[in-house]
Amino acid sequence: LTNFPYQHVLVLGLAKSGTAAATVLLENHIQVTINDGMATLEDSSVQKLQTMGAELVLGSHPLSVLDEKDIIVKNPGIRYDNVIVEEAERRGIPVISEVELVHYLTNQPVIGITGSNGKTTTTTLITEMLRQSNVSVKVAGNIGVVATEVASSLQPEEKMVMELSSFQLQGTNQLQFSTAVLLNLFEAHLDYHGSFDNYVQAKCNIFKNQNEHDYLIYNADDDNVSAVVKTARATKVPFSSSRPFTDGAWMDDEFLYFKDEKIIAIREIVLVGKHNMENILAAIATAKLNGASNEGIYQVLTTFSGVKHRLEFVGVINGRYIYNDSKATNILATKKALAAFNKNVVLLAGGLDRGNTFEELIPYLHHVKAMVVFGETANKLKDAGVAANVPVIEKAFDVQQAVEVAFPLTDEKDTLLLSPACASWDQYKTFEERGDMFIQAVHRLK
Ligand code: ADP
Repeated sequence: LTNFPYQHVLVLGLAKSGTAAATVLLENHIQVTINDGMATLEDSSVQKLQTMGAELVLGSHPLSVLDEKDIIVKNPGIRYDNVIVEEAERRGIPVISEVELVHYLTNQPVIGITGSNGKTTTTTLITEMLRQSNVSVKVAGNIGVVATEVASSLQPEEKMVMELSSFQLQGTNQLQFSTAVLLNLFEAHLDYHGSFDNYVQAKCNIFKNQNEHDYLIYNADDDNVSAVVKTARATKVPFSSSRPFTDGAWMDDEFLYFKDEKIIAIREIVLVGKHNMENILAAIATAKLNGASNEGIYQVLTTFSGVKHRLEFVGVINGRYIYNDSKATNILATKKALAAFNKNVVLLAGGLDRGNTFEELIPYLHHVKAMVVFGETANKLKDAGVAANVPVIEKAFDVQQAVEVAFPLTDEKDTLLLSPACASWDQYKTFEERGDMFIQAVHRLK
């Protein structure tokens, strides 16, 4: 830690990021108190922190944990209306999230990616494009790798690529990104942030400490994004899937471009869907400005089949194009998936019944030649299919059976798509488990 101005830190909420924050602070001889409602001394990671000198307050949240503390490192999952956090604000004690410590751990370039949707996909694309171009990078943040651990082990010349949620960004103060990416801004997490304005404010922390030597890659097609980046000091680089930009990344019907340079033909790209073209454009701009080669970018775009369960291209099996979009746990996501194809889709959908109907899907079903519906929402999805004149609609019990029912309904070159439009919890523990079951079932078809 360099120039860390605080002597006594309260780590509020352990989990993975709190444990990492406490560890790095203790290693740097900062006094640490840990307050966590769930952790116990039976936990070996808690024992280790105690051995390192942490003071532990476990099982309850007395306001006295704030006494003599200079700052709080809050787990992003803990809301700002938590009693301790509210009391800290009353006492004027700053509240940061674990990612803010990156500011004190490295001077090397940090590329930050945020947005309401597409963060993990874009973060992965950027990381792979740089790696394929022999630029050394480490990936961290919301993608599931604790940022402080990566920042403290960064090699000289290595860059960090960091996915950031609005929860993490709300707790940043000084953290500065050499390149920041703002993908899009939709209404999300209003319960946590209180209002759309507060949510947008948190997202804007990604560029608030940037100066003119830094880059801000932003979505010029998103009105909310275009409005907020007006105040940014960074060098702004737009991306757009709808019109040309001589100073950014853009596309026409056939090719993707960076400035006046042709990068790749769309038909060579494995990822599908307009939303993914937006993620790719953002990634191309970021990668190009951080030393990626056109060959490296090309290599990734012609092989990367998507982040698992997110409209992931599973492969060609018995001549059918198989896509796993198990992460589509709502209607909006399934609309995007359906819009990514223009003909002969056999759709597998269904899952937890949240009480909604599926009329919104009707205009997106015109190229669906058959549907197999399953789970609690089977009948409701069937109603939407009937209203859209889908020629064949079958019912199955679960995803595995749906694959068996669907296969005879497909011809060679057809797309077999799992995009459930529902959460998985009626039949599966997680959407990941549902997607894995789908992949296993399609491989059994061979
Ligand atoms: P995040 O990390 O922000 O949750 P992911 O890359 O994991 O985003 O994608 C999750 C889902 O969000 C995708 O399956 C897709 O339905 C939707 N999505 C991805 N990228 C975009 C985008 N650029 N615009 C709108 N929706 C998107």
